[in-house]
Order: sequence, then structure tokens, then C-alpha cells
Amino acid sequence: MKHQLNLQEVIEESNNIVFFGGAGVSTESGIPDFRSNNGVYNTKYKYPAEEILSHSFYINHTAEFFDFYKTNMVYPDAVPNKAHIKLACLERKGKLKAIVTQNIDGLHQKAGSMNVLELHGSVYRNYCTKCGKYYPLEYILESSKVPLCSCGGKIKPDVVLYEEELNRETIEKSVEAIISSDVLIVAGTSLSVYPAASLIDYYRGNKLILINKTPTPKDSNSDLVLHGSIGEILEKII
Ligand code: ZN
Repeated sequence: MKHQLNLQEVIEESNNIVFFGGAGVSTESGIPDFRSNNGVYNTKYKYPAEEILSHSFYINHTAEFFDFYKTNMVYPDAVPNKAHIKLACLERKGKLKAIVTQNIDGLHQKAGSMNVLELHGSVYRNYCTKCGKYYPLEYILESSKVPLCSCGGKIKPDVVLYEEELNRETIEKSVEAIISSDVLIVAGTSLSVYPAASLIDYYRGNKLILINKTPTPKDSNSDLVLHGSIGEILEKII
């Protein structure tokens, strides 16, 4: 039987922690989990959410894409919760080296985290598909129907849609951070979606910590499993 790890001790003893987070990290800030029952899958649109959030749908039905996107994927008023705040604090103390996130809401940066690897991009970055000019989120929110660049090109959020590849550099940096970490905390992800599960397999240490509301397929492979609120669990760390 494995020695039962204690989260507080593990964090105290390490200066090389990496945090890998999914949608569950942001639900405590009121952002719905895209894949959960309460998520945007259940909203009433003519097309399924997975289809609307695909590259071909963005190309062929751009106005409808933005209508859905602005209503369901962008939460400009959301604020960081206890988990985001604690992680930023651990980074400032030199204990946490990187956050790898599947979320696109920018809440880690709002909390003050610096090294955030956004696997699925961010709603805060938007580019003209023609000339590459950058636009802030406000520009997207203020545009009616399709946001257009001054050059006439369509603007696209820097968010990874279905059918699109993840950014290679972000993947490489995430792998690097995970391989060299000595503690890996995985939270708020069901670990069923690519590339979450495969990235975690790069971890070589013996302090894999899973924090989730419900069991995941990796529970039995991890060194410590905590079921509960991520914010409440992390808040207790001194
Ligand atoms: Zn342009």
C-alpha cells in the first residue's frame, strides 16, 4: 500500500510544481463547464455546440458562430476564484513553475499568474485572418455580427476550434514543464479529452495529485486523489 501523501506537505517540500487545469477550475467563477450537463451543450441552438465551435462552421456561418461564441464562450465579468488566487500566490513564492490550462477565460492571468500555457487559446487574443492584426476582446464584443478588420478581413478569436490543431509551441512548453516537474497537480478535468490525458502521461515523478468533484479514469494511477471543490481544497494550503 502506498504511503498516503498530504497535500500541504507535498507543496511545502517542492519548488517545482506544475498545475494542469480543466473547466472545473473555472466553474467556481461561474463559467459553465462546456461538457457538463449544465454546460452550453444544453442551450437551444439550431446546431449542436460542437458543430458551431468547429473551424468549418466559423468559415461558413461566421455570424452565427459569433452569436453563439459571444453568448456562451465569453465571460468578461468573471473574476478569479480561490484556486486561481492560490496558484498565483504559489508562483510568486517560487513554488509553482507553470500552469497548463484547457480554459480560454484568462482568469489565471487576472489572478496574477505569469507562466500560463493556454492549450486552447484565449478569448482575449483575436487576429485578422487576412493581415494578422491583433484585436482585443472588447472589439469582438462591440461588433455586431461578424467582427471585421480595418483591412476588410474577418477577425478570429485565438481559440482552438474543433478541427483545428493545438499550438505546437504551447504543447512543447507544456510537455517540458510536466516532464521536469516534481509535483503535478491535475484539477477540474475529466481527463477524457485530448490532449489532457496524453500530456499527463509525460509526468515522471511520484507526486501526481488529482483534484476533482467526481472520479476520473486516472484516479487509480495517481498518488493522491482529492474529491471536492478545487478552490476550497487549495485555499487551505498555507
Ligand atoms: Zn486585417
